[in-house]
Amino acid sequence: MQYADPTFLVLSLAGIVYLVMFVVILRTRSLREHAVRLLQIFLLASIAWIVSQALLRLTLLGLLAGFDTYALERIGVYLLLMLAVLFYKLTCLFERREGSGLYGWIVGAVFLAVGVVVYENLLGLPDFLMPVGQSVIVRWLVGFAILVVGWGLYMGGTVVMTANTYRRVTSPLHKNRNKYWSLAVVLAVIGQGLLLARAYLPGTLLQLLAVISAAFVLLTFNLPDLRLAARKSGVYLVMTVITVLLYTGGFYVAQALFKPMSTSSPLLVGLVLAIGLAALLNPLLGLVQRFIHRLIVGFQYDASRTLSEYSMSISNILEMELLATVVVGLISEAMEITHGALITTSYQEGENPWEENSGTYLFRSISGVGQVMPESRLAARNPVAYYLRRERQPLTQYDIDLLPRFRSMESDERAWVSSLKMDVYVPIYAKDEWIGILALGPKISGDRYFDEDLMLLKTLADQTAVALENARLYQNLKDRNADNERLNLELKTANQELARLDQAKSDFINIASHELRTPLTQVIGYNDILGEMLKGESLQPAMGAQMIGSVRKAARRLEEIVDTMFDVSKLDTHTLDLMQAPVSLASILSVSVDHWKQGMDERNQTHSVRGLANLPTILADGKRLGQVFSNLIQNAIKSTPDGGQVRVVGRTLEDENSHKQFIEITVADTGIGIAAEDLERIFDKFYRVGNVLLHSTGNTKFKGAGPGLGLTIARGIVDAHGGRMWAESSGHDEETCPGAKFHVLLPVRRIEDIVSALSIGSVSTENAVLK
Ligand code: ADP
Repeated sequence: MQYADPTFLVLSLAGIVYLVMFVVILRTRSLREHAVRLLQIFLLASIAWIVSQALLRLTLLGLLAGFDTYALERIGVYLLLMLAVLFYKLTCLFERREGSGLYGWIVGAVFLAVGVVVYENLLGLPDFLMPVGQSVIVRWLVGFAILVVGWGLYMGGTVVMTANTYRRVTSPLHKNRNKYWSLAVVLAVIGQGLLLARAYLPGTLLQLLAVISAAFVLLTFNLPDLRLAARKSGVYLVMTVITVLLYTGGFYVAQALFKPMSTSSPLLVGLVLAIGLAALLNPLLGLVQRFIHRLIVGFQYDASRTLSEYSMSISNILEMELLATVVVGLISEAMEITHGALITTSYQEGENPWEENSGTYLFRSISGVGQVMPESRLAARNPVAYYLRRERQPLTQYDIDLLPRFRSMESDERAWVSSLKMDVYVPIYAKDEWIGILALGPKISGDRYFDEDLMLLKTLADQTAVALENARLYQNLKDRNADNERLNLELKTANQELARLDQAKSDFINIASHELRTPLTQVIGYNDILGEMLKGESLQPAMGAQMIGSVRKAARRLEEIVDTMFDVSKLDTHTLDLMQAPVSLASILSVSVDHWKQGMDERNQTHSVRGLANLPTILADGKRLGQVFSNLIQNAIKSTPDGGQVRVVGRTLEDENSHKQFIEITVADTGIGIAAEDLERIFDKFYRVGNVLLHSTGNTKFKGAGPGLGLTIARGIVDAHGGRMWAESSGHDEETCPGAKFHVLLPVRRIEDIVSALSIGSVSTENAVLK
């Protein structure tokens, strides 16, 4: 009977299986929608191939007529190329790779189209294309070769991609899944290869197996563990061998023992043998089983012992870091894992606290074995966060990668989760609050986490909850204490600062009244004398002129003091305007030095001026700068004992990086110097070194005190010019007089620069208001 042709039967069988699979898949909701849709197309193409080959077979067997067998054979080859392209794309989806995107399809289509054109001779080419040596190139062979090369390209790509992924993947569950896919790939390559070589029967069978395993992998989430299955079957084999050996050995021993006793009946022999075997077999089997169990599951921990040890070890720990180290250490020891972490979870409300899940979870890993994770946050809507909070069950990375409910994760959140390189996440709850996660990396053995492991981990997580909550409270307490200490310290410094300011204020009132009183007394005094003299008509014109001069001088002093205060208030309110114009620092400084020359002479002080002649002209407020240098020279005179020296030096500097030019003026003296802690404070408002009341008054007197505003104003003016000002001294000593040096650094802003900046409309008034 020709219908019993084995090839035809295998083809029919494969056809039915494909059809059934197609229908079944239509009805199932699956893990991976895209992959399954492609699998359906793959099945349709497979069914088309089966139909073409079944027709071919029936025609060849003479049961059908009217079909062109060559055409059917060619259609088979086209369909095989299509199957290769589809399988390649299916692998891409399985591996979650791009698979060259659209190009993956286009290249396949081009191969198919060119193959069809040549093979079907759509261009009307001659059958013999060209001679090559003794033989000729046959057209159909070229067409066939193009199709085979295309097929080889796609199947080769599939093999390479699968092998690469297999090497890359570390998670045991993923590795297991990849093993199944590798099996499908190997079967498909050999199967389709055989079909191309026209070995239809084995080819169809292998291809059928390939399709079944591919569909199985794509549609099943919990794939049986191949590694475990292999070990189990190995063990089963060992057990069978041992039992057989036991029985045969026992049988021979009994025979040897009872042979000499010819009187004994075979029944007795059997009885003794059975008793002996029964006595031996049971303990031996127990032993073998224990050995086998260890072989299957690898190192086996005692769950109840682990649990009691665990709760005993962690119950009294209050330090967060110690708790994490002990927790992860104990689990690592029991389950032999590569790394792990204890992560704390805290919820932060979103913008709208009434809206559910609008907040975020902050994850902070405390410490782990060999890994510190970056701090991160996940939106409460994130499926992983949602699962861990709601389901109260361990979650594996495999679940996150494959289950549809986690597909909506944002890509950066997904990247963060997989960057942790953990295999399983076990949530920890205190009462109803989700407070942490036990995150555990892969086992050293490469085994997956079995159900018993997950159950134990869940119990351990429950045990950890109380300890973690205590540690968290303790940590909060510690943080609060640290905060309190910090605040106390800040309060202390603020109080000190307040006391200092308060002192400065009362000093100022003292100084101001003192400073104002002297000229004011003079004005009133002279005025009274003038009045008396006018009344007694004893006023001499010369004496009158002298007194008026003295009144004017006192009034000027009053004006000076009021001006100084006004300047400070301008600095405070940022309303100090500069009248900028091209100025020469040499002439400004020479005016300042001249102004104080008499004062220096009176105190027997010498002075020197160097390096001013070659300084470039700069754009600045000459009057204000004069005020700065005048103050510096006056301070130098006041701080230097009689016979001392005041030196003014100027030079041009250039910043190496920005190539900007600066002018530096230093005013140095051989005076009492400044203590390190006062070097900055002297620029503060009203600040004056030492006891205010011990200072003498007067413009140039040794240790003569002013209102303590000169340097504040000077620095304000220099800052407004975009410059810097600071003091330098090796200390304060009235005996040794280490001296002080004041630096003024001013940027060189030439008029040309300003004009060119203005012409391109980009001038900024930086620190100065241009007028
Ligand atoms: P004033 O001169 O009005 O007291 P300043 O602001 O000009 O105020 O100076 C503040 C304080 O800085 C001075 O009281 C003085 O103690 C100190 N000081 C300023 N220049 C020098 C210097 N060249 N050497 C030592 N101390 C100085």
